[in-house]
Amino acid sequence: IRANFSTVLDDEDEVTGFITVISDVTEQEKVEQERREFVSNVSHELRTPLTTMKSYVEALTEGAWQDKEIAPKFLGVAQNETERMIRMVNDLLQLSKMDVKEYPLNRERTEFVNYFHQIIDRFDMNLPEQISLRRELPKGQYYVWLDKDKMTQVLDNIISNAIKYSPEGGEIRLKVENKRYHLLVSIQDPGLGIAYDKLEKIFERFYRADKARTRKLGGTGLGLAISKELIEAHHGQVWAKSKEGKGTTVFFTLPLMNQKRRGI
Ligand code: ADP
Repeated sequence: IRANFSTVLDDEDEVTGFITVISDVTEQEKVEQERREFVSNVSHELRTPLTTMKSYVEALTEGAWQDKEIAPKFLGVAQNETERMIRMVNDLLQLSKMDVKEYPLNRERTEFVNYFHQIIDRFDMNLPEQISLRRELPKGQYYVWLDKDKMTQVLDNIISNAIKYSPEGGEIRLKVENKRYHLLVSIQDPGLGIAYDKLEKIFERFYRADKARTRKLGGTGLGLAISKELIEAHHGQVWAKSKEGKGTTVFFTLPLMNQKRRGI
C-alpha cells in the first residue's frame, strides 16, 4: 500500500485541507517493475563496455594500429572491457541460477578460524603496498557448515572491496567473534565510506555508489548481491555500517554447528 499526502492551499497560500491518496501496489506489480528495471540495467551495463570497445576498435582500424605507442594502449582498453563484460555475464548467470534455485551448495563441516586464516594468507601474499591486514581471530576452533568455494567467493568480494575502496591505504581489520549460536565476521576498512542513504542499497544488483569510479576499478555492481544470496543460503545475515570519508564495516553471521554432535 502506498500513501501520498498533499496539502490544499487557498489563494493566500493558507492550508485549507489535506488530501491522502492510498493506493495498493500489489506484489505482482512490484515483481514486474523490478524485472523491468533489471533488464534495463543489464542492457545499459553491457552497452557501456561495448560502446567503449567499438570506439577504440574504430580508432585502431582507422590508423591507430600503426602507432606503436597508441595501439597497445587501445588494445589494452578493449581487453579490459572484454574481461569486465565476461565477469559481468558470469555474475549474471550465477545470479540467475540462484534465482531458480539451481544452485546447490556443497557444504561440509569446516573449522572457520583456520579456513579464514588461509583466505587472509592468500591476500597477504599479494597486497597493495599501502594496505595492511590485521587479524582479530579467536584462538579456539569453531565449526560451521560451509560450502568453501562459495564462502571464498563471498570473502574475496568483501575483502577486495575493502582494499579497492581504500585508495589512501591503511589497515583493514578482519574479525571473527563467537556469539554463542553464530559467528560474527566483520571486515572493517579505513576507506571512502558510503553515504547513509546509499548504505542499504549496496547489496542490490547493479547498485554502485559512484558509478564512474567503480567502473574504472573494474566493478560490476553484482559482487555484494551475490555475496548476500550466498550468505543467506548459509542461513546467515549480512549488513554494513559506514561513515563517509571514514570507512566501512561489512558484517555477516554464520550459524555455529553444535560442537558436540560431530559430523552433522
Ligand atoms: P562493485 O563491483 O561495484 O564493487 P559490489 O556489489 O561489490 O560491486 O559493491 C556495490 C557498491 O557498494 C560499490 O560499487 C561501492 O559503491 C559500494 N561499496 C562496496 N563495498 C564498499 C566499501 N568497502 N567501501 C566503500 N564502498 C563500498
